[in-house]
Amino acid sequence: MAAVDPDLPLRQAAVAAARKLGQDYDDLVPRTRLSDGFTFDGARVSFGSFQRGIHRARIQRGPAALTVTTSFKDPYADTFDAAGALFTYAYRAGPIDQPDNRALRAAYELQTPLVYFRALAPGQYLVVAPMFVTADDPVARSVVLEPGLPVQDMQPGGLVSGPDMRAYATREARIRLHQQRFKLDVMRAYRHRCAICALRERSLVQAAHIVPDADPHGIASVVNGLALCAIHHLAFDRSVLGIDPDGVVHIARRLLKETDGPMLRTGLQGFHGEAIALPRQPEDRPDPARLQVRFDRFELAAA
Ligand SMILES: [Zn+2]
Repeated sequence: MAAVDPDLPLRQAAVAAARKLGQDYDDLVPRTRLSDGFTFDGARVSFGSFQRGIHRARIQRGPAALTVTTSFKDPYADTFDAAGALFTYAYRAGPIDQPDNRALRAAYELQTPLVYFRALAPGQYLVVAPMFVTADDPVARSVVLEPGLPVQDMQPGGLVSGPDMRAYATREARIRLHQQRFKLDVMRAYRHRCAICALRERSLVQAAHIVPDADPHGIASVVNGLALCAIHHLAFDRSVLGIDPDGVVHIARRLLKETDGPMLRTGLQGFHGEAIALPRQPEDRPDPARLQVRFDRFELAAA
């Protein structure tokens, strides 16, 4: 039986605050926001320095790490095994019993939850919390991390989630990770501009799936994506706007006949027959087969 972690209330506060930030920022939290830390018992507590690292907060009484952070510059040190669906985290270089490694390994011994910050872009993090250290390999100098249940279901003393629940939570974290990577890849490929109207106001440009991600062809890869502004994204999703496999925009016939203000005239009808802007790199460009699948649906809906 593992010892009870004296820092459990602190961890619950950290997990709750980190999850809230993840929700507030649609899963991609800026470092500037994480640097503010969280409050516990009226005091501000740091989430860490946001260098790659293992962090134990100053006010902790127990030995175990509170957060671990991956580095954007060195993604291979902390792998995410897509096939096996496991997160691993490498020990810090140097002696096995140096303080950071001791803190990481104590999280395993106590089976106590921590917060995982995965850098997906410079200064931007996906948050997975609670995360548990479920295996420790001192020979390979790494641990295995698995997401657990949300904070309200945690019990003092450790891991209440069974293997099924952990597998579920890991799958969920993996999907979130892939979605965020998809978003970043699409935005980079289209240089943060709507492929139709070239709007580049970041708060209004989104990563759209060509084939929806619930569909078997709907992979979260840049070739199944388009950067679209909010109105063109919605028009595409509602099949009032289609893009054929050659990248030409089609507006539903019904809308072409209508008369309305400038949004319809300029924002929609004006793009009928125009080509979308393609990413510079050929490997980033939309897959014509997927555009065809989606265009067939548009034609059916718009007929
Ligand atoms: Zn647009």
